[in-house]
Amino acid sequence: MKTHTFAKTISNAIPLALLILCANPTLSSAFTLNEADVKGWSSNDLSVDYNFDNCGSISADAMKNIAQNAFDLWNSAPNSRLTIKLGAAVTTTGAQARALSFTASSLVLVCDPSFSTTTSSQSGNGTLGVGSAGAKDGSGYYTKGFLILNTQSGNTPNVTTISTAQAEITIAHELGHSLGFGHSSDSTALMHYTTGSKASLSFSQDDIDGITYLYGRSEPKQSIMGCGTLQYPAGPGNGPMNGPFWLFLVWFLIIPAILTKQHRKLLSRSFSRSY
Ligand SMILES: [Zn+2]
Repeated sequence: MKTHTFAKTISNAIPLALLILCANPTLSSAFTLNEADVKGWSSNDLSVDYNFDNCGSISADAMKNIAQNAFDLWNSAPNSRLTIKLGAAVTTTGAQARALSFTASSLVLVCDPSFSTTTSSQSGNGTLGVGSAGAKDGSGYYTKGFLILNTQSGNTPNVTTISTAQAEITIAHELGHSLGFGHSSDSTALMHYTTGSKASLSFSQDDIDGITYLYGRSEPKQSIMGCGTLQYPAGPGNGPMNGPFWLFLVWFLIIPAILTKQHRKLLSRSFSRSY
């Protein structure tokens, strides 16, 4: 009797467990985009101009290293077409950067000692930086964007009071926004809304999924009539379908046409001889 009751309980619990599982699906991707139709930057090579004149106790040379390390994290994504590097030193201020008031068509990275004023709509204290992209070309690709670092004295924390690793994480995170990404719900991701739990500069699989989605590398076309080809057997040039379109024409249209013409001539000769 007891066994029967136990079995009945289990059989009743299974549908409930399935219902709970279905109602709480595991997310395969947690990254988000800044906006629905974001296309990112069209160029594969992205230069980031910089103004490191107001980085407090961090020297301009040290900040260059920090920035390049942050860029190299994005550069390390295996399927990304992007290469991000430091561009030229500029005098753009935080306010000018935020207003996209600079002539170069690129990203600008600025240490801002007036961060609270520049980001008046946000909290200066506790916010280490902001990153975004604004201007777009006719096709919807970004043409201008900014990364502004909080180096305002008295703001706690600011980029000058955190570790070098945290400064690198801050720039890499804000760069992610400038590339077109929103926040990820994956707490291990660089693009999670808080970097407090991260001890070192690193990606999660979710960040790699995001950059692959938006900036995936494309292969040069090896095709017949614009279609991708699958080679068999392995290796180029092992069959008529592996070559370019003219080879396809030679094999399947021109040669059969010549052979047919020859065949007709032979038939015609043999006909006239017989009769
Ligand atoms: Zn963020």
